[in-house]
Amino acid sequence: MDPQCAGATMTAPRSCAVFERNPDLMSFAPLGLAEPVTRALAEEGYSEPTPIQAAAIPPALAGRDLIGIAQTGTGKTAAFALPILHRLAGAAKPLQPKSPRILVLAPTRELGNQIVDSFAAYGRHLRISTRLAIGGVPIGKQIRALARGVDVLVATPGRLLDLHNSRAVRFDNVEVLVLDEADRMLDMGFIHDIRRIVGLLPKDRQTLFFSATMAPQTEKLAGAMLTDPATVAVTPQATTVEKIDQRAIRVEKAGKQDMLTMLLKREPIDRALVFTRTKHGADRVVRGLAKAGITAEAIHGNKSQGQRNRVMAAFRSGDVHTLVATDIAARGIDVDGVSHVINYDLPNIAESYVHRIGRTARAGAAGIAISLVSSDELAYMRDIEKLIRRQIAGSGTEGHSPAARSGVRPARGEKQEEPQRQGRRRSRKQGSERKPQQRTAYGAPGRQHANGLAGARFLEPAHRGPRQPSPVSE
Ligand code: AMP
Repeated sequence: MDPQCAGATMTAPRSCAVFERNPDLMSFAPLGLAEPVTRALAEEGYSEPTPIQAAAIPPALAGRDLIGIAQTGTGKTAAFALPILHRLAGAAKPLQPKSPRILVLAPTRELGNQIVDSFAAYGRHLRISTRLAIGGVPIGKQIRALARGVDVLVATPGRLLDLHNSRAVRFDNVEVLVLDEADRMLDMGFIHDIRRIVGLLPKDRQTLFFSATMAPQTEKLAGAMLTDPATVAVTPQATTVEKIDQRAIRVEKAGKQDMLTMLLKREPIDRALVFTRTKHGADRVVRGLAKAGITAEAIHGNKSQGQRNRVMAAFRSGDVHTLVATDIAARGIDVDGVSHVINYDLPNIAESYVHRIGRTARAGAAGIAISLVSSDELAYMRDIEKLIRRQIAGSGTEGHSPAARSGVRPARGEKQEEPQRQGRRRSRKQGSERKPQQRTAYGAPGRQHANGLAGARFLEPAHRGPRQPSPVSE
């Protein structure tokens, strides 16, 4: 990776661009994607590539390895799905038993489902087979589904290794590996699983590596798996944050439940996503709201697949206006029309704040983000403000001493979700959320993209020659 690009994040871009997004690329036509793919895109109502697509698709089509720094909501799924579908459209090959041609690794079942849906949508005019291998559902059906081979296998790392250990999948025909949300996979403790899987893959493959952030650990992983990658980064930073009306309210822990109740009654809320730090915290908030006559549902790692599906359907349909979630459970949930994000607890990782509030500014919409800040969270708030480079009205951080940082702990009796355990548990037990059929339009050509994407950055012009290279969900 270009050293200048190291550490670039969606909130803290570095000047790593060799050149900015090609302004001529205002339609998909110049990309030269196969006709069945462009036809599907037209049917989806996509008139122009998003910045990450405009930057990532050309090097991916040229067969290069790729690092794409982009968060959910930027169109990153199509950024890797479209070149892959182009490859499959151009070189039909007989399926080999138990073998995928394309392997997509995703951290959560929700994201896995969304990826499968995207391949189904953009690949609807191609005869490709796609399978999903996620935990939490019986393995037998997945073993049978893989028996004849597949074009695209989308999997969570734990279940994929289980399938490999059962000799239900082999990797010798993998032409393309996609790692989606690599930073989140590392957060969830999948590093060893990923390294094992990568070690089992053919060396001569294309690798497409997507991550919202590029912390040193993520970069190290990329360095170990990629060969001479092109790096592209979208920069939604300031504009995303600027589109959102961010407020903070200083309130001590004991007063947060009443404050939330008041906000939910007072604010003109379509859909509110309330974030707590722990699963128990989420349940407690839902119970407190019920006592105040407000219907809300919790979504977190202890919920069964059926419960999660039911809750998400109710939230999407508008039967339930308030969803209380933990960061990890909320990851991959793709719901447009969230009018309010409320941080009941502040995240202890500043970047999670940007992920959270980004839920309310999807598809170009504006949104409101309200953070309830207790004294022991002031240090978190300062970190957040440093990251987004602005002060949030009402945050109360002025004059706060950084020494307070050391005193910040989860509340008594609360245990923070432990990433590794939770990651594995999620991949084995939790349910899945289907992406709604309706797809987000990024707006008319020439307009600012959803999430206020300022544009994509593309490093290192492609110079390698082309290389030779789809899950039925559960
Ligand atoms: P993703 O970042 O992959 O989760 O995509 C976010 C949303 O953008 C999804 O609802 C996609 O269907 C939608 N989308 C992706 N690419 C485009 C495009 N070129 N034009 C309009 N919408 C898009």
